[in-house]
Amino acid sequence: MADVLFTNVRILDGTGASPYPGSVLVQGNRIRQVGRSTAAISPTGATVIDGAGATLMPGLCEAHTHFSWNDAATLSAIQTMPLEEHVLWCAKVAKRYLEAGFTSCVGAACAKPRLDVVIRNAIDAGQIPGPRYLAASQEITVLGALGDETLPHLPFPEFSFGVNVSGAEEMRKAVRLFLKYGVDSIKLNLSGDNFTPQSPAETNWMTDAEVAAAMDEVRMRGKRGTAHARSAASVKQALRHGIDVIYHASFTDEETLDMLEAARDRVFVAPGIAILYAMLHEAEPWCITHDKAVQMGYQIEWDAAIESLKAMHKRGVRILFGGDYGFAFTPHCQNARDLEFFVKYLGFTPGEAIRCATLYGGQIMMKPGELGQIKEGFLADLLLVDGDPMANLGVLRDPKRLLAVMKDGVFAKQPGIAAERAWGRAA
Ligand SMILES: [Zn+2]
Repeated sequence: MADVLFTNVRILDGTGASPYPGSVLVQGNRIRQVGRSTAAISPTGATVIDGAGATLMPGLCEAHTHFSWNDAATLSAIQTMPLEEHVLWCAKVAKRYLEAGFTSCVGAACAKPRLDVVIRNAIDAGQIPGPRYLAASQEITVLGALGDETLPHLPFPEFSFGVNVSGAEEMRKAVRLFLKYGVDSIKLNLSGDNFTPQSPAETNWMTDAEVAAAMDEVRMRGKRGTAHARSAASVKQALRHGIDVIYHASFTDEETLDMLEAARDRVFVAPGIAILYAMLHEAEPWCITHDKAVQMGYQIEWDAAIESLKAMHKRGVRILFGGDYGFAFTPHCQNARDLEFFVKYLGFTPGEAIRCATLYGGQIMMKPGELGQIKEGFLADLLLVDGDPMANLGVLRDPKRLLAVMKDGVFAKQPGIAAERAWGRAA
């Protein structure tokens, strides 16, 4: 692994601070030196990359990733993809995420029991390219709730998107099975979802005894509990049981916000609002007209989510970027759009939005002191971007503007040929 010196770059360090001109030396897989002027670092022995004024920033972290969602319009179309094709799909998507600048992803559930674990292990072993990855379980759910796709005449568990349990002991067994497979987190579907009309967003499904049994097992193995929680009651249930990552949190009340604020140093909220927007405004090609989406409850949820997330942001709750890409309406690798939504609809500054994917990304990846910032000693996950993301966040979802992607000190996307002429290898 050659040392790399990025010179003549604008350094966006990932803390939310404004960029400054400088140079960055990468040795091995770490950022060794950060200079505020090009002259400050000696290039001896390093490959020098003249950034020509481009922005160097930490790689992005997607906090709510589903590699195994296959850009289909229904849960059953995801679930019924045969296993062999599904593994290949996940491997392909993992590579695409990395090349799109997502150097870390937090798995938020997979469609078959071991898909996430197998992909994480293959990435870690260097068998396939992909981001740093935390592997999730399948969604664990109860009969009739989001993720129960079994049919009366076909009651086979393999048909179900999530794993159905009834009662604390069945929950314990399901959780233990996923822990045996090696997941980093266990995903519980605490609330419903407007995507499944029989179990809409504001309905609640799991008993406290079931959630407690799951978290008991999770804690015993030192892993993490995560929850699909759109309703206020489900967010409170998640918090009561010590669940660390709350997906969605659309509906809140004063008590919920107080509880979130009290837990803000522990808990992460990854809302994934792009899918709400897409269902309301962009899903017509899949027969979900705006009127139908309104009827399904998406306008009410969108309005509630915007208010809830603005309030959480004011209270210092960590809201993370990404979420629920991999449906037909929200295809993979458009994820950076969430950053624009945070600014447009939630009142974040561009710096705050970027921080959700960088500084907070390192925290949700369980590497707070070494990932998600451009800082000496940190892991070298870096993006070289043509343009200023603080002025235009849209550049982060334009592959042509992403000049280079480095993960762990190695280029996943090499700096392009056109610019290469400007660069030289130092003696
Ligand atoms: Zn999700």
